[in-house]
Amino acid sequence: MDLDLVFLGTSASMPTALRAPAAFLVRRGGERLLFDCAEGTQRQLQRSSVGLPDLEEIFLTHLHADHVLGLPGMLKTFALRGRDEVGLTVYGPKGVRDLFGKLKPFLGRLPYPLTIVELAPKDTLERGEYVIETFPVDHGVSALGYALVEHERPGRFDVAAADALGVPAGRERGILQAGDAVTLADGSVVTSDEVLGPARPGRKLVITGDTAPAPSVVQAAHGADLLVHEATFAEEEKERARETLHATATEAAEVARLAEVRLLALTHVSTRYFGAELARQARAIFPETVVPRDFDVVDVPFPERGAPQLLKGAGRPPRKLAYDPGVMSRMVQIATAGDVTEAEELQELLRNAGIDAELEAADSADGLMVMVPETTLEAAQDAIEALSEPDDLIAEP
Ligand SMILES: [Zn+2]
Ligand SMILES: [Zn+2]
Repeated sequence: MDLDLVFLGTSASMPTALRAPAAFLVRRGGERLLFDCAEGTQRQLQRSSVGLPDLEEIFLTHLHADHVLGLPGMLKTFALRGRDEVGLTVYGPKGVRDLFGKLKPFLGRLPYPLTIVELAPKDTLERGEYVIETFPVDHGVSALGYALVEHERPGRFDVAAADALGVPAGRERGILQAGDAVTLADGSVVTSDEVLGPARPGRKLVITGDTAPAPSVVQAAHGADLLVHEATFAEEEKERARETLHATATEAAEVARLAEVRLLALTHVSTRYFGAELARQARAIFPETVVPRDFDVVDVPFPERGAPQLLKGAGRPPRKLAYDPGVMSRMVQIATAGDVTEAEELQELLRNAGIDAELEAADSADGLMVMVPETTLEAAQDAIEALSEPDDLIAEP
């Protein structure tokens, strides 16, 4: 059973050229659960390798504009696509029903059933193989965090033990694996605990939404395989984080350390930062930290199959090159980056713009040169100028 999370929007407050505001898609087997739905979320899905599925459930962390503005447009698109039978349920904290009352003039009549469910902190939605639990956060408004917690799985079937007990291959083994006892032909009874190993833990994925660092988050995230925590600010703006009830990267890392999670993914990044500096600050406290970009995916395998992993750009469809790669072109330097992380960020930005950027060691002691094919120089300059504060990242060559 696959479990992963596609980062559709990783920016705080407003979109930038590189990041859309908050939205995450959790994929578990064939299920698609959307968490938050900021402006442009339907387009982010369309641009991704996922496409825009007929979502049946959307979970809102809180009702600030940068988490919900994408809903009216997406709901209208579903209507225009002729959706009429498949229902949609929107879950959110207290106030979400009132919000939909106000959205009425935008939405008009929808041809499919729409259900709004208000949740309180510590509510549990039972889903068969897992539960979704809500938990309180500290954002000064009606807000919830969400934890997807899988139930324990039965232990591994011990073939040697079953052989030794004389359990024939076939139906009986299936019954034992399901947890029931069987009576063999000779009248002896074999119970499932004789042939099954200890129960194996399920996975846990936690999304905080916007919040200041909070003990309730530490508690809810305890032992999580993946904690998606907001990190709106860097340490320099700690005071501002306090005033606005947001977290710094360092604070989010401290929460992850206390909660003993396996992987921390920072999101809701203020427009003034690139991911690199937030990652540096957080990793000083909690090394297993990533700062995903839009269209990155974190895969969460069962613990025995390995650690959760950031798959860069895995949610992006195969890229088209902005120029004809068949035509050989001289590589020219477009920028010098201070360190590997910065160089890779820039390289990725250019590659996302369809430019085949490469990195080369600079002649001076440190730094890396970012090289692009000469024919793409202008497009590369445009892509870099689209950055909000390129000076943070790039020293002129
Ligand atoms: Zn907020
Ligand atoms: Zn926000």
